[in-house]
Amino acid sequence: MKAKPPIQLKQKIELEVTGLSHNGAGVGKYEGFTVFVPMAIPGEKVRVQIKQLKKTYAVGKLLENLTTHPERVAPLCSIYEDCGGCQTQHISYSMQLEQKWERVKESMERIGGLKDVLIRPVLGMKHPWRYRNKVQVPFGKRQGQVVAGFYASGTHQIVDMETCWIQPEEGDRAVCLLKKMVAQLGISTYDERTHRGILRHVLIRKGMHTGEMMIVLVTNGSHVPKKREVIRRLREAFPALRSIVQNINDQRTNVILGKENKLLWGEAYIYDKIGSVRFAISPHSFFQVNSQQTEVLYQQVHKYAALTGEETIIDAYCGIGTIALYLAKEAEQVYGVEIVPEAIRDAIHNAEINGYDHVQFTVGAAEKVIPRWQKEGIHPDVVIVDPPRKGCDAALLDTIAHMAPKRLVYVSCNPATLARDAKHLLTKGYAIQEIQPVDMFPQTMHVECVTLMSRVEK
Ligand code: SAH
Repeated sequence: MKAKPPIQLKQKIELEVTGLSHNGAGVGKYEGFTVFVPMAIPGEKVRVQIKQLKKTYAVGKLLENLTTHPERVAPLCSIYEDCGGCQTQHISYSMQLEQKWERVKESMERIGGLKDVLIRPVLGMKHPWRYRNKVQVPFGKRQGQVVAGFYASGTHQIVDMETCWIQPEEGDRAVCLLKKMVAQLGISTYDERTHRGILRHVLIRKGMHTGEMMIVLVTNGSHVPKKREVIRRLREAFPALRSIVQNINDQRTNVILGKENKLLWGEAYIYDKIGSVRFAISPHSFFQVNSQQTEVLYQQVHKYAALTGEETIIDAYCGIGTIALYLAKEAEQVYGVEIVPEAIRDAIHNAEINGYDHVQFTVGAAEKVIPRWQKEGIHPDVVIVDPPRKGCDAALLDTIAHMAPKRLVYVSCNPATLARDAKHLLTKGYAIQEIQPVDMFPQTMHVECVTLMSRVEK
């Protein structure tokens, strides 16, 4: 039987913080019992009050710093502690990068059992702010006022926002303007309890290279009151605006976008570039949110792929085909596979606008499609995988190992599943050359890794 927790709810304790959890909270032990303290930094001694008590851990509120870490900094954002969108604004950027590196190292050792893998220092941003190319903001009312911002961490209460330091400045301006407009023109906002009201969310996308901007109004039902006036005011405020779209979402759901888009003004797409490759982006397109670091990430993939122009490449989990198209110029033949049909539609469109006819995209699960390609006799020289957080299916890794590409470039947003999959591949004839983490999400705990694995000569 487990011992009773050595603390009680509301108790005040002193604690030494020894680590950082996956969502950025400080972690320490009180008489051997784990306590999470949001906003505390490893190395600090803190006084906390226990706010939540579970069988195996507690969560405490930071009351006072008894010692302060030299890398503690003042968060830029005034609603940082309520919002939940960022988790590490109180930690200097250089320490954030070190912590991400530690996380990769720790996963490799603990989950992968891999002690001497070369993990390069995390590639961070010069200016780790204003990096997102996409803004998604819920609209609602609070005490009769129109509010728009973020859901407070773990709730559906909208925290009103004026400035978000990780989003483009146009996003702030558009949200403020729309709040004012909605109030002045008497456009109702959506209330999820009653399922009434019109404006649910506003989505803003910006081509960080081209400057082109798209605004999407997500509405409950098809009616947009004062449509012409809304369009006129938005166009006047944003000369770079290329597209205004209405997205209809009349479901009781947390999913932001509904299925149907109606073009209100301008073009159905905006364009952006990664390297020299052009991409068309629509309201539903999946597009990496940090354009600047996406280029850094893909440069790394390109380096590890070491192409000569004669290679056959597979890009598994290809999304809208970004990696496949980024590498296409230097490959003989490229195959991409992705499970979301709309993404493949975008990928095919993107291959066309770049004039590539040696890139082929297929809809389906990678673990189904790639075995089929194997039977059809496709022999890739380089395989890229970029799976979601849960990593790759073991059977897929086996198929890839059977196809015996010289190089396997594994792009991962989750060090834990990367470590698991890398360990599996080591038993299938592959060696890890090195890992290059890239910071795609400053001010959060997320870390992206590019790993080069190569076929061991037999
Ligand atoms: N490589 C792309 C997208 C990576 S995100 C880029 O850099 O932009 C991971 C992608 O895997 C998502 O688009 C998701 O829809 C897709 N996906 C998830 N499970 C899949 C599966 N079993 N087979 C193929 N694709 C899958």
